[in-house]
Amino acid sequence: MHRPTHTPSSTPRRRLARILRHFPALLLLAGCAAQSAPAPVPEGTTAYALENGAWWTGERFEPRTMYVAGGTFSARRPARVDSVVNLAGGFVVPPFGDAHAHHFESLQMAQRVGPMYLRDGIFYGMSLTNWMDRAAVMPYWARTETMDVAWADAGITGPHGHPILIYETLARGRYDFNADSLRPWTDRRAEGKAYFIIRSQAELDEAWPRIVSGRPDVIKTYLVNSERHAQNARDTSRLGHVGLDPALLPFVVRRAHADGLRVAAHVESAADFRTALDAGVDMLAHLPGYHLPAGGDAAIRRLTDADAQRAARAGLVVIAGPLRGIVGYTSTDTAAVRAARELQIHNLATLRRAGVRVAIGSDTYGQDAAPEAAYTAGLGVFTPAEMLRMWSETTPRLIFPTRRIGRLEGGYEASLLVLGCDPLARWECTADVRLRIKQGQRIDVPPPPAST
Ligand SMILES: [Zn+2]
Repeated sequence: MHRPTHTPSSTPRRRLARILRHFPALLLLAGCAAQSAPAPVPEGTTAYALENGAWWTGERFEPRTMYVAGGTFSARRPARVDSVVNLAGGFVVPPFGDAHAHHFESLQMAQRVGPMYLRDGIFYGMSLTNWMDRAAVMPYWARTETMDVAWADAGITGPHGHPILIYETLARGRYDFNADSLRPWTDRRAEGKAYFIIRSQAELDEAWPRIVSGRPDVIKTYLVNSERHAQNARDTSRLGHVGLDPALLPFVVRRAHADGLRVAAHVESAADFRTALDAGVDMLAHLPGYHLPAGGDAAIRRLTDADAQRAARAGLVVIAGPLRGIVGYTSTDTAAVRAARELQIHNLATLRRAGVRVAIGSDTYGQDAAPEAAYTAGLGVFTPAEMLRMWSETTPRLIFPTRRIGRLEGGYEASLLVLGCDPLARWECTADVRLRIKQGQRIDVPPPPAST
């Protein structure tokens, strides 16, 4: 396809536009006249037509002309059309999402990853645990020309739990996770900043005002092998091998829901999946068995049809990633990779059969969700149309459930990507982004920096 072009429309129409801009009452009348009347254009904004595109309906691509007025899609022609954008036969899809990341709260990192996300067509991100001090970065993400981020702030875990070691390591600027791994337990620099340790309902009640003090969008909590929580919790010689006491999870959910906040749970095993369901958690931050350590037990990570059916009834959303991590962790052992991949396929296929919504999350520092989406597509569990819905509809709506996004329909936010080829034919076409529009505004991103 050719590059989309943007041409001003005829002069008389522009003159009319100027007139109408000064007489908003006329617009109001036009809008009220009849069902078939043009959509009114909010004052002070531009309206344009998008022609010659194949538009994603949620099921297939259909040729269509759409309009954008005041940052919102309109299927009807607005009273005023300032310009026409020729999409040159491109494939129009809603922008993508990354529902699990940890690199949005530092300004330095934001400036590095922000353009990468936009370049790959990812307009929505969710931070599922971050340093609570994020004031400095908020103006960066608040702009239309950057992606939009939802925040979990500090996560809730138990004594010696995941992610204490990770954040204590980060707090020291030292990335050796194995060296001296118990010292952070006696010198905790990130507690109350990136995680909270909760041992009882009373401690939860006491800490709650601080947990929500930064006005998070979602509450993140950690389950790690609930099936042997009691015995793992007694082992105080390690950090990160355990999570929140599963008995406390229902209290976390109750407090969060009372404040209108959703709950995301880190999970490892099928028992964690069931514990999260029992407690009424809204989303899982991982697919159980997203990774399978060499020599790890696949059976405790395997989901059943009954698990999946319960999750579907509860409306639970499962963020699948980081699935592609298994390639890096165990690439020297092809049998281990095969076993891990087989487990991923089994669990995803089980969720798919029951109709559980699955979302894409990268959970990888310095990287966006494009490689994760490509890996997930490559597993062959989901049809191309299901993959496209997962990445462009389910994931963005999981991140911002109250916004009208994920669909290219009248009344929805006018955010879109124009792809150069059909992503239903080849998943690689999702990477061929020719045009980005966010809330009606064209987004231009610098080319990627020279390879490092
Ligand atoms: Zn994570």
